[in-house]
Amino acid sequence: MNVQLQGHDFRYQAEQMIFVFFRDPENVFLESIYDEKTQSVTTHISHNGRKNSFTLSLSAPFCSDDVLLSAYFALSPLSALKAPWGILSSTRPTKQARSMVWEHGSVEQAKKVLRDRFLVREDKIDLLYSVLSVETPILTKQDKKSVSLFVGIPICPSRCLYCSFGCVPQGKREHRIPPYLAALYQEIDALSEALSQTDFFIETVYVGGGTPTVLLPDELSCLFDRLSSRFDLSRVSEYTLEAGRPDTFTPEKLAACIQGGVNRLCINPQTMQDKTLPVIGRSHTASDVEKAFAMAREAGFQNINSDIILGLPGETEDDVADTLNRLFALSPEEITAHTLYIKRASELKKHIEKTPLPTPETVEKMLDVTQNALLSRGYAPYYMYKQKNTLGNFENVGYALPGYESLYNIYIIEETQTILSVGAGGVTKIVNAEGRNTRSFNPKDILMYQDRITAIAEEKRNLFL
Ligand code: SF4
Repeated sequence: MNVQLQGHDFRYQAEQMIFVFFRDPENVFLESIYDEKTQSVTTHISHNGRKNSFTLSLSAPFCSDDVLLSAYFALSPLSALKAPWGILSSTRPTKQARSMVWEHGSVEQAKKVLRDRFLVREDKIDLLYSVLSVETPILTKQDKKSVSLFVGIPICPSRCLYCSFGCVPQGKREHRIPPYLAALYQEIDALSEALSQTDFFIETVYVGGGTPTVLLPDELSCLFDRLSSRFDLSRVSEYTLEAGRPDTFTPEKLAACIQGGVNRLCINPQTMQDKTLPVIGRSHTASDVEKAFAMAREAGFQNINSDIILGLPGETEDDVADTLNRLFALSPEEITAHTLYIKRASELKKHIEKTPLPTPETVEKMLDVTQNALLSRGYAPYYMYKQKNTLGNFENVGYALPGYESLYNIYIIEETQTILSVGAGGVTKIVNAEGRNTRSFNPKDILMYQDRITAIAEEKRNLFL
């Protein structure tokens, strides 16, 4: 993409709008001009030979939203996309919606601002405030001394088409897993020393990845023992394990998880369409997902979340409806619906030209199909977020049956709680009394993490000094 600015510096905002409207941003030329004399912002657009311009007259002091608005009106006639989120570009829209209520004095006023100033469509405003109505009572009860613990196992049986995480394929497990766990245990020990010097307590634990169920039953038991022997887990109310791929777990592994205290399991098929699963790099079938659910219920899990992705290659609204129906038959307590995000470091990005992705209009319909189906089954949206720079600016939404909302998901998106992370790629976020946060990052690369573990552990030991 080619973006030229005159009279201002809001490049990020101008670029954001291009990503919202076009799947081929590299073919867009945008010029954004702020004219102080006439108090206006003009945007000129050219895309594949088509051109448009829009001039916004300002009635208040110039700000970055004016660049977004002017670009929005210039771009929208050149795209079939309706951009239901208008210019609301925050990746945490519920956090922004909550602060708007404080700023404007009431929910009604905040809704009016979203509608009139940010051009957010009515159904999306309703979605935002439905989420807030579920999560606000949970956030109100949050103990300021509580923290969450994230334990990362960034290893997977194979790499999914859309993945850009730092996770690595398992390969020869004896070379990959034991050295990683040894490093992880050093960091766990260091963090536990630091935490024991404070009055914080752990409320939720999330063992994620990657696919933690690539570990053998003994390795899982060892990990859970390490955690319970080093940390006080007596106040943990939610203990999640991301089982991810249904082909990685066995009754023995699930028994180790139950024994270790896990009370929430994620089984993430992404789709129940056998035609799609191999395309996205999965080596299991929809029927394996059904068997995995049965195994998990048999092991005693009463809280199972399933992730799905809308917009997968070759899928239609009917495929999404069918995926949901097959999941409903398994009665998951939560379903999280993501929209496909084409990440720069993914295989999908490399092969995008040859991949038959649904149109953005179809993805919009998939979002509607999903929301209607889930609401009619008694699931309510309880957390949501968006990715930066995505086509359509589409949302990812977690739905839960009442009482099954994940605290961890709410805290991490609303950034109201300190998240302590161990493992490669872990991001530790300390939230202070004013609600501001500071972050520290572990290396994403597993080998670099292992090489640097002594220094990483030392940093963790000093985390609260
Ligand atoms: S399961 Fe998740 S972490 Fe693993 S390859 Fe797929 S997307 Fe990446």
